[in-house]
Amino acid sequence: MSPRPDERIWVTLKPGWTPDPRLRWSIDGNAHTHRGHLHVSARRSELQMTVHAGDIADASPEARLWIDGFLCGQEAGLFEFLGCSPRLYDSHDEEDISRWMAWNERFRHRGWAPPLHTMPRPDPALDGVAAPQPWTYVAGRFRVWQDGAWTEADPQPEDAEQDNPGRVWPGTICSQRGYHELAVCYGSTTICESCHFVMAAKRHADDRTIPLPGRGMLPPSSRQPGPPAR
Ligand SMILES: [Zn+2]
Repeated sequence: MSPRPDERIWVTLKPGWTPDPRLRWSIDGNAHTHRGHLHVSARRSELQMTVHAGDIADASPEARLWIDGFLCGQEAGLFEFLGCSPRLYDSHDEEDISRWMAWNERFRHRGWAPPLHTMPRPDPALDGVAAPQPWTYVAGRFRVWQDGAWTEADPQPEDAEQDNPGRVWPGTICSQRGYHELAVCYGSTTICESCHFVMAAKRHADDRTIPLPGRGMLPPSSRQPGPPAR
């Protein structure tokens, strides 16, 4: 292994992410915050940042290879793309494969990706939820709770969210204001009080919004030791 930081590996950042577009930054490694995000630190400066490949303006040939390998290593596996659902995995078809490959290609192209949701467990309690129909978004498809099971919405709604498809159901109040009002529902699931978006409960009950991938300046003290602040 070559010494770190490797002088050959440098990037410059787009305006808005750097005080000087000519400033060279070293790549420190995986930020472990969101898929595709990495830590960089400015050469001959104390500045440190969390960025993704889309924030990078220029890069040395070695840095391009580093980033390419980094992004390939963070591609989603098919099982993860299918919401970690054994049922979807066992019944996946060519269209699932196409959406999965397109998702990874887009991730490598943009350098970041919206979070992939886990398929919520089928829960009979969802039968008692009033309209609108509980829904979720897994494997690139809107899915609704119907007749006691998750089924693909037919037709699929026209999704205007190009950057983060499936984040909201088009035309709902959540789509207008840009976030959900998530409340813990039945232990294993969290449901939006407004549009009835359902997600597997992995978040803290107080987390009432779904943030977009975070990046930006980090105070140096937050970097070491332990995981970085967001
Ligand atoms: Zn909502």
